[in-house]
Amino acid sequence: MEHTNSREFNPEPPVVRRLRNRQETVWINPRRRPFEEVSASLPLTEADIRDAADRLERFAPLLARLFPETAPARGLIESPITEIPRMREALNSRSGADIRGRLLLKRDDLLPVAGSVKARGGVYEVLKHAETLAFGAGLLKRGDDYARLASPEARRFFSGHSVHVGSTGNLGLSIGIMSAALGFSAVVHMSADAKAWKKELLRSKGVRVIEYEDDYSRAVEEGRRAAGSDPAAYFVDDENSRDLFLGYAVAAERLKGQLAGLGIVPDEEGPLVVTIPCGVGGAPCGITFGLKHAFGDAAVCLFAEPTEAPCMTLGLATGLHDRISVADIGLSGKTAADGLAVGRPSAFAGKCVETLADGAVTVEDGRLEGWLRTLWETEGIFVEPSACAAFQGPVLFSREEDFLTPERRERAVYLCWATGGSMVPEKERARLLGKR
Ligand SMILES: *Cc1c(COP(=O)(O)O)cnc(C)c1O
Repeated sequence: MEHTNSREFNPEPPVVRRLRNRQETVWINPRRRPFEEVSASLPLTEADIRDAADRLERFAPLLARLFPETAPARGLIESPITEIPRMREALNSRSGADIRGRLLLKRDDLLPVAGSVKARGGVYEVLKHAETLAFGAGLLKRGDDYARLASPEARRFFSGHSVHVGSTGNLGLSIGIMSAALGFSAVVHMSADAKAWKKELLRSKGVRVIEYEDDYSRAVEEGRRAAGSDPAAYFVDDENSRDLFLGYAVAAERLKGQLAGLGIVPDEEGPLVVTIPCGVGGAPCGITFGLKHAFGDAAVCLFAEPTEAPCMTLGLATGLHDRISVADIGLSGKTAADGLAVGRPSAFAGKCVETLADGAVTVEDGRLEGWLRTLWETEGIFVEPSACAAFQGPVLFSREEDFLTPERRERAVYLCWATGGSMVPEKERARLLGKR
């Protein structure tokens, strides 16, 4: 006779079984609610996004000074969107997608300062911290031209303060480069997944890089500990930061204008289906939060994660957030998508989007390099492996018949968020593109 065990009384959700088995998965969030119903009960508001956008405006003259590549956009850190019709054809003919509408790419791989989506949240959090310190020290007051923070006096002041962060790579680049540019002493705690070129680049900018033979959670923990014992130190907490989250959220309102420029005004009959690669969750959840404020339910927001590291899907599907890790279901957390090699999600980010996220997809590592090459061959665009996870959204979702009606599927516009790429060195690019 069969033995009764506790699991039979507390069955795991079917999606968890699929994740455990490393199967590529489409997960539709059963807790998602119409935006209008839940917006008032969310932990952050539209005013918080506005506040972040205004702060970035105030800092724009300083950024234009420190990073001349931002001068054409007058110091705003923003990226274009590009239609990628040949990639669409390739996904339809070679990857089993059934994309009927247009396919767009959000080019955060081109973001100035850090060449990845982290240039949004990371830069914002460092600037906000710098503003707080400068206000407190009487170096700056409301209404001043913030470009004065490029002065030797301000740099000397910032050099007495340090900024720490734990990272798999790209957040370290963003925080490290921005902090060093202001004169802070910057310390990046890197996990074993971090690429050597990212460490070298940071060191060349005067950032201290401390390496750990361990995963991302350990790097974060060490960063938190190192900063905790020093009153002049500030720790950027990727697992809980509301500032990172808001820096990401600002993207959405700006996207609205860009879409209008292409004649696209999403509505519920013709939704914008956005897929964002997800690591700890700050970037995709922050952007989702912004998208729902900007577009309401006309934005369908999906996260994309590697089959070996689906931490956000697992945290949301079980409702356990950071109280469960991918190791708990036997997964390694290891992936070629280094920006997504995270085993435990941010509880803060997850809780913010619990009722907003529409769903998630998982993708096998084996597909990423193929898409990386196809995008290069068809559109001449290079993005890093993590960014390629976004293509799994349209590939799996365009065949998902339960979610979109046939009419909505016909009219849906798909947007893949290319989260990084332009800083990848030539040699690494050639390797990824299969050239010698
Ligand atoms: C960090 C990162 C992500 C995911 O962002 P999280 O905030 O960690 O979820 C996706 N793609 C790239 C390239 C990244 O660097």
